[in-house]
Amino acid sequence: MQSKVSGSFRRATILINTAVYVFPLLLAQAHAQTARDSVPPPRYLIRAAHLIDGRSDTPRDNVAVLVEGERIVAVGPPAELSRRAGAPIQTIDLGGATILPGLIDNHTHVLLQGDITSADYDEQLLKESIPYRAIRATAAVRIALMNGFTAIRDLETEGAMYADVDVKTAINRGVIPGPRMFVSTRAMAPTGMYPLLGYSWELKMPEGVQIVDGPDEIRKAVREEAKYGADWIKFYADRRYYLGDDGRLRSWVNFTDEEMKTIVDEAHRLGKKVAAHTVGWDGIDAALRAGVNSIEHGQGLTDDLIARMVKQNVYWCPTIYVGVYVAAGRGGVWPKMVDLERAAFGKAVKAGALISYGTDVGGFAWTENEAKEFAYMVRYGMTPMAAIKSATSVAARLLGQENQIGTIEPGHFADIIAVQRDPIADITELERVSFVMKGGVVYKR
Ligand SMILES: [Zn+2]
Repeated sequence: MQSKVSGSFRRATILINTAVYVFPLLLAQAHAQTARDSVPPPRYLIRAAHLIDGRSDTPRDNVAVLVEGERIVAVGPPAELSRRAGAPIQTIDLGGATILPGLIDNHTHVLLQGDITSADYDEQLLKESIPYRAIRATAAVRIALMNGFTAIRDLETEGAMYADVDVKTAINRGVIPGPRMFVSTRAMAPTGMYPLLGYSWELKMPEGVQIVDGPDEIRKAVREEAKYGADWIKFYADRRYYLGDDGRLRSWVNFTDEEMKTIVDEAHRLGKKVAAHTVGWDGIDAALRAGVNSIEHGQGLTDDLIARMVKQNVYWCPTIYVGVYVAAGRGGVWPKMVDLERAAFGKAVKAGALISYGTDVGGFAWTENEAKEFAYMVRYGMTPMAAIKSATSVAARLLGQENQIGTIEPGHFADIIAVQRDPIADITELERVSFVMKGGVVYKR
């Protein structure tokens, strides 16, 4: 494990170095701008051979994007936009590339650095301080941005308290580069149902979540998490996955119905949406009964649960790649869960389920590139364009940010990426993003 970690760091360093030459220029630009408030914001005309806007079913050719400050102001024929823009304007000519909206990963853990086994997980909580983990998180968010992910929903800090809020604040204030973050802080599980587990009762061990029992504690925990900056509320609906006699993937449910409904009720009362970690049939069934907004993982989805998910407009983040990544190391029912999820994914696509891109990166090493999920989605039955939408317009709707991000259109944030070759012909092109702009600032070129 040690050698693997240092290898990851080396790769991360290389990635960071490629970005270094762009970022200081931007900082200088930003400083110059605050010094002279009267100077108009930078304007860019971005040209490329092809454009995927995140909403249309087909790419468009001979289209340019006009960016002013942090927003897109126009999308249209390059000559027309050039005339309209006048001077001064900087042209970014990306040649034969395809431009797309910045990608959105709706299931990340910036404060986790891979946990194939419970020993990997425990080691991070026991031997790494929260400040050290936050430093590693700053490297993780930089990698995410350089890979083309301009927004992420980070689904709990795994024992690092509210450090996700701090990472988000550092990004928003321009201290470090990173994606727009939507955070869920500590997440919840009842006593004895989430790591760290298995240690002597004489020891007070760190917890991977906020431990809550009963409706009163739950209401207080939801209020506390909201108070300290949670955008979303997350809880762990189930554990102990096993294969039932009927072939369904079953699980032990963590909360009573009353407790689960209290989480959802209190979160919704405070204007927060709810994400449920749930893998087995029983957990998904209970989470849907409670009225959650998104199902995370969902390997145990069956036709009846998919139908309920569709009827209730609940989103599904399948996190396929992490399941494949950890299956061999975890053993037991995990390899079988990969097959079950593949079958469920095909059925959910056919049923028109709302499938949002979500990878669980952090569960696997950040240096793996969270864009690897795309190839699995396509192999499992999604068209390449649908997979792209799942990480752009569909993902933005899950976040309630569809008027801000997820598509390339006037009024939206200028979160724009590019790839050199056609991602529709080869979806793995999205693992090789060559240009990244977030909020009108170029981070990679
Ligand atoms: Zn996760």
